[in-house]
Amino acid sequence: MKVGLYDDPVFREHDSGSGHPERPERVDAVRRGLLEAGLQERLIFLPTRPATDEELLRVHSPVHVRAVAATRGRVVAFDPDTQAGPGTHEAALHAAGCVVDATVRVLEGELDRAFCLSRPPGHHAERDRVMGFCYFNNVAVAAAEALARGAERVLVVDFDVHHGNGTQDIFQDDPRVLYVSSHAYPYYPGTGALEETGVAKGRGFTVNLPMPYASGDAEYLRVYREIVAPIARAYDPQLVLVSAGFDAYDGDPLAGMRVSAAGYGALAGVCVDAAAGAASGRVVAALEGGYHLDGLATSAAAVTRVLLGEAPPVIPAEAHPVVDRLIAAFRETLAPAWPVLS
Ligand SMILES: [Zn+2]
Repeated sequence: MKVGLYDDPVFREHDSGSGHPERPERVDAVRRGLLEAGLQERLIFLPTRPATDEELLRVHSPVHVRAVAATRGRVVAFDPDTQAGPGTHEAALHAAGCVVDATVRVLEGELDRAFCLSRPPGHHAERDRVMGFCYFNNVAVAAAEALARGAERVLVVDFDVHHGNGTQDIFQDDPRVLYVSSHAYPYYPGTGALEETGVAKGRGFTVNLPMPYASGDAEYLRVYREIVAPIARAYDPQLVLVSAGFDAYDGDPLAGMRVSAAGYGALAGVCVDAAAGAASGRVVAALEGGYHLDGLATSAAAVTRVLLGEAPPVIPAEAHPVVDRLIAAFRETLAPAWPVLS
């Protein structure tokens, strides 16, 4: 299994100010996790490159691209959470560019899979808005590259604890990108209700799975096995992109979920299985959130093991009335678009 790892010192040059949870040490934590798990020598290290204007403009407006570029060498606060520093623009260009590069290499068969330590993260960045620590929507830019190369079915699985409002915003009317997100709800950023299923031709191709507070491995895995897996099989994507956010980790300072590192590995297993058909195993994962450094290290290592082809950790399915009701509600709302759930 040829699995690429994209990392670059430039990802540490983005600084949102002291005390900000989205800090450069996050990338080092992932690297430490890979090192301690003995995985580094099994990965193919690849250089990053900046995304081009052409690539960015497929998903962002010209005004947005110019606004981020205008932060070069300066400190610019877009909102109370999202402050660009002098090095942010360059980091954001490389964060988006490396996910595009990974996607191209995977589509061309040079790599089987890839893990991008893209920082700053991307899934809150909308077509026209910087938001929630995110400047360019890295995964969306990569999905658009796949579409430009003729892909007709790209699956984006987003297991970050926050809803990826940006990815939804960009593709909500496009059936060529199926966006599936599990997230705490109601919670930041406020979007991601079960009833938000896409618009116009994209109706049905946005799947939001709002999870109750304090959900852990058992709850997540039942939702992934009973909802995400059958939808993914029915869609039969040609490429699977993963918005790999690790802030559902038990102990993350920003959220209140209880997913373990092994649980993250098991979620990655569902993502890899989703690529078993037309995607021929092609998966590109990109770092989103995750603010507990040890949790980030161990969870990212668990995901990487699965990307490398190891069997995912076994998480037993537990019968629980709350989860049963949750899954019944998901089925009822989603079955019109996804008869496989009825
Ligand atoms: Zn998040």
